[in-house]
Amino acid sequence: MARMVIALGGNALGKTPAEQKKAVKNTATALANLIEEGHELILTHGNGPQVGMINLAFENSADNGDGTPEMPFPECGAMSQGYIGFHLQNAIGEELRERGINKTVSTVITQVVVAYDDPAFQNPSKPIGNFYRREEAERYSRAKGYQMIEDAGRGYRRVVPSPLPVDIVEKKVIETLLKIGEIVISCGGGGIPVIRQGNKLLAVSAVIDKDYVGEKLAEVLAADFLVILTAVERVALNYGQKDQQWLSSLEVATAKRYCEEGHFAAGSMLPKIKAAIEFAESGPGRKTLITSLEKVQDGLSGKTGTVITVETG
Ligand code: ADP
Ligand code: MG
Repeated sequence: MARMVIALGGNALGKTPAEQKKAVKNTATALANLIEEGHELILTHGNGPQVGMINLAFENSADNGDGTPEMPFPECGAMSQGYIGFHLQNAIGEELRERGINKTVSTVITQVVVAYDDPAFQNPSKPIGNFYRREEAERYSRAKGYQMIEDAGRGYRRVVPSPLPVDIVEKKVIETLLKIGEIVISCGGGGIPVIRQGNKLLAVSAVIDKDYVGEKLAEVLAADFLVILTAVERVALNYGQKDQQWLSSLEVATAKRYCEEGHFAAGSMLPKIKAAIEFAESGPGRKTLITSLEKVQDGLSGKTGTVITVETG
């Protein structure tokens, strides 16, 4: 029996409400298998498409002048945590009841502290929301103070910073829920980024990477395992090329070298490997498994997946 933080990738949730309702059933089956084996689970997940949808709906509606207020980005993030948690907790809850497992699931709306002087604030890099034509983009930039960039020839988009997670505001609540046997969903979409200002938590328009926040959760909760579930069964060297080579284990020093050699794409596999390195170095025996949702049990029993540790496994 192990305590594990499980970071769910985009494929565990789908993109629309209908897609998500279907996807979470599949996700629930895989997770219930782990719960049935006696593991203690803390779940986190991405929210790119969901927060994009919420943000876009509000932006369009507010622009149409029908009285819908502007919805700040942190509020959109909070809504996405609620909406995703709602589907996930119900799907897992149902699966557990069907198996006669007497456990319940709850979602914690989670805020994650970031540093006011994080260099990411000087260099916003994460595109969000709608695509605009140049003139519109300039208008938005002036009117709302948004930073806009040209996104791969598809138009102009707002960009927000992607700071590193420093601490999890609701960590005590999460720990308490775990102690009473609850399955906890938290830090959805990387958490709502906040800056501490005296007694205040100042929410900022930014996106924390969900793989990094999964690592922070695993560290803070002293988990045995960080499990990153994504669309691939294993991490590869020379991914997508002729000489592609799947890895079953990866030692931290080697992982660092591969990062420098550019084996892992920024914004997809790189943050997962960096999170794994950070977790391995945060305490003895801490391991990260990267695999697919379907293969998670096989991955935990060493049959597949890529395991990242300090020593060679
Ligand atoms: P998630 O929503 O799970 O975070 P991402 O698309 O961000 O999904 O990251 C996972 C993807 O990273 C994989 O589906 C794969 O296409 C890509 N990828 C990039 N480099 C590698 C690599 N070296 N090995 C395996 N997958 C890689
Ligand atoms: Mg990703």
